[in-house]
Amino acid sequence: MLYRNDKHGVPLSILGYGCMRFSRKGAGIDMAKTEQELLEAYRSGVNYFDTAYIYPGSEAALGEILERNGIRQQVHIATKLPQYMVGSRAAIDRYFDEELRRLRTDYVDYYLMHQMTDFSQWEKLKGLGILEWIKEKKASGAIRNVGFSYHGSTPQFLKILEDYDWDFCQIQYNYLDETTQAGVEGLKAAAARGIPVVIMEPLRGGKLVNMLPEKAEKAIAADPRGWSPAQWGLRWLYDQPEVTVVLSGMNSLEMVRENVRTASEAEAGEFTPRDHALIELVRQSIREKEKVGCTGCRYCMPCPKGVDIPGAFRCYNAMFIESKNAGRFQYAQTVGLTAKSAFPTQCVGCGKCESHCPQQIPIREKLKEADRALRPLPFRFGIQIARRFMLRKSHD
Ligand code: SF4
Ligand code: SF4
Repeated sequence: MLYRNDKHGVPLSILGYGCMRFSRKGAGIDMAKTEQELLEAYRSGVNYFDTAYIYPGSEAALGEILERNGIRQQVHIATKLPQYMVGSRAAIDRYFDEELRRLRTDYVDYYLMHQMTDFSQWEKLKGLGILEWIKEKKASGAIRNVGFSYHGSTPQFLKILEDYDWDFCQIQYNYLDETTQAGVEGLKAAAARGIPVVIMEPLRGGKLVNMLPEKAEKAIAADPRGWSPAQWGLRWLYDQPEVTVVLSGMNSLEMVRENVRTASEAEAGEFTPRDHALIELVRQSIREKEKVGCTGCRYCMPCPKGVDIPGAFRCYNAMFIESKNAGRFQYAQTVGLTAKSAFPTQCVGCGKCESHCPQQIPIREKLKEADRALRPLPFRFGIQIARRFMLRKSHD
């Protein structure tokens, strides 16, 4: 296993265990199978385990397995405050105390503000006294490192990043998301501030393995490296020194062993121009299935009416590359849950964006098409309700 240091020089395994996708049996977690997989990873050197308050049964299962095997002190637990569910300092305490109980521990190594999409959420938390709360928890040793996990746009990520002396952060990042969400710009900005970056969705929930176009599969199979699609996705990340830990939701021994093998070999800076060319070919073959040829360059931004143009096109394309629901879910999450709404319906047709687009996309027309597909009536209502819930100012 290879290790990269956190902000304070603590070595973290470059492969982290994503506990959201623990093996399941019926309605619950398959404890025997999960324990076997988790211990296999632990014995192979994995020392970073990522869970969250809202992953059903995950914190309790992790706590039970670590306690039963007497290895709590040997590993790092990362878990998350459901910031969208809190509206008072008392609520923050309640969630945190419950998490400690579930995890059977009296401290959390890495504590994240979960699923931030907009700076206003961080402002809300500050209004509730989160800064003093963090200070107290750090002083008492109940929390060792504080970070946030992120799913919004690059500018909002940078705003949150720069507003506090974070110990680490967690972003969705893979070779298809190089210029979306926090993106490579966010990754490099964090690294420049000395903030370690944990990567989630390194294979887009398995889609960069299971849903590759035939052309991409053939190119990977023919390459002399002999790497699998999963290895290509992970190695592309490990090649970047700004990446600290890559999370993988492992739920089979084979998956653990393959990922461990990759994380024992993959050094930063090992990619050759030929390797980058292969990733580009795979990326292009995926993009050929896209509806709009938007590269995410953002030259069209900012829109004076606040429309998230590249965000809308990325989700529209995801409907065709991944699945209808994947695109709609990403739309609700990244375009729908910003404090100032960013929907294409806000477009007044000024045309400013089109004059800047190097791909000469008829942006106004395509935005209408994208929103119609991404937000059919039931989703429209669903997003409205989610906005009220996730972005509300106070709630206990
Ligand atoms: S045409 Fe619409 S999307 Fe483009 S800049 Fe004007 S308001 Fe924004
Ligand atoms: S300028 Fe064109 S290609 Fe670039 S993000 Fe905007 S719409 Fe996409």
